[in-house]
Amino acid sequence: MCKVIAVANHKGGVAKTTTAINLGIGLAREGQKVLLVDSDPQGSMTSSLGYKDHDSMDYTLATGMNRIMDGKKYDSNEGILHHAEGVDLIPGCLDLSVVAANLSQVLRAEYVLSEYLFPLREKYGWMIIDCMPSLEKLTINALAVADSVIIPVQAAYLSTKGLSQIMMTINRVRDSKVNPDLKVEGILMTMVNGRTNYAKEIIKKVEEDYKDENPIFESEIPLSVKVSECSKLGESIYKHDPKGKAAIAYNKLTREILEKGGKLI
Ligand code: ADP
Ligand code: MG
Repeated sequence: MCKVIAVANHKGGVAKTTTAINLGIGLAREGQKVLLVDSDPQGSMTSSLGYKDHDSMDYTLATGMNRIMDGKKYDSNEGILHHAEGVDLIPGCLDLSVVAANLSQVLRAEYVLSEYLFPLREKYGWMIIDCMPSLEKLTINALAVADSVIIPVQAAYLSTKGLSQIMMTINRVRDSKVNPDLKVEGILMTMVNGRTNYAKEIIKKVEEDYKDENPIFESEIPLSVKVSECSKLGESIYKHDPKGKAAIAYNKLTREILEKGGKLI
């Protein structure tokens, strides 16, 4: 069975893309068959995996979604890239902003991505969707197809405030029956500077406010310069700094998710 996880938060710069990539490659390293989906018009997931020419690619997620909206024939297998670290990727590009604009003109606008990914469900054990930093239509499409959401939260000033907005959106997606079974996989604290009391205070506040209703991952991702170097190199933290604290943390997160899904061998 395929599990679909959206990595979402309307805030930018909270490590959504970094988490989607390193969870995806983490799962592949544990023997899982993984498809990464870049649903952000900025294409950061695509470029961070080394495909710097994403805006001039012949086929991206935008091509596929546009074909569905235009009622044209499509093959969801088309254009899938195979990354050296064992994951597949449906690349994203700037044209996704055109897709987002066109979504307001079609029926069942929330389900275009869902329809596109459906045939691929039998091929993969996991799909990890990287979302754009807004809660607009493309993100709703990701939440509509997802089984669960990972919400990365930067352990820094003000970043926790926005959590209520993504929670409201998740509730709206459930209540409007777009995806009544949508779960929160977990809130993930990222860029944690363990040496400051400040980070600890923020984590405590998130726990106080959200722990009763939403799981918070035991794993926390530490602040690490090594992580910020990965996107330029087009590789994961496991490749760039395998013994470092961030690789250990992302591996722990991967195993936490596998364990919960009963897929840890
Ligand atoms: P988002 O997708 O939420 O906008 P990104 O994953 O692109 O966030 O991360 C934002 C920036 O922070 C990027 O430059 C990334 O390399 C950097 N970054 C992410 N996680 C860490 C970390 N644990 N330590 C240091 N820098 C990080
Ligand atoms: Mg991003």
